[in-house]
Amino acid sequence: MRAFEAAGARTRLVRLKEDLEDLEGLVIPGGESTTMTMLMERMGLYDAVADALHSGLPALGTCAGMILLAERVSDGIDGQQGLGVLDIAVRRNAYGRQLESFEAELELNGDGASFPGVFIRAPIVEDVGSTEVIARHDGRPVGVRKGRTMALAFHPELSGDLRLHREFLRLVRS
Ligand code: GLN
Repeated sequence: MRAFEAAGARTRLVRLKEDLEDLEGLVIPGGESTTMTMLMERMGLYDAVADALHSGLPALGTCAGMILLAERVSDGIDGQQGLGVLDIAVRRNAYGRQLESFEAELELNGDGASFPGVFIRAPIVEDVGSTEVIARHDGRPVGVRKGRTMALAFHPELSGDLRLHREFLRLVRS
């Protein structure tokens, strides 16, 4: 929320399905995708979020949020599925455990710019499906976009660099 407010957006927490009303974009942050899915189901939010996203609400998912947006999830808990908003396949925790969390310079698409990537028990994108790759680490896709939905395996809000937040706001307004 702080990163988006610094980038000029107004923000609101979504805890209940009523909180989705009149939103122009939804951010699904990092965390623990299994717990997030369970809590969303318990709060009656899961189906409402799925409906909103499949109806075209722009979304940004980071790390666990990327897993939630994915169509195919490996190494999840039994029966764990993504919301299927992006036709990507991800493998949870594929970079290793907490100790293997790392920071690395990424290549952003387009202008050859680099971006400081912060990876915390991040998923690996095993198949980018029909999405456009917008960020790579060592040649491997770590950020994708399709239409007005973006998903990042890393945490852009921890780098102090707001370019990707601004890019999402630009997509929301487009
Ligand atoms: N490993 C977590 C998961 O599977 C994601 C970690 C994160 O969001 N930083 O949901």
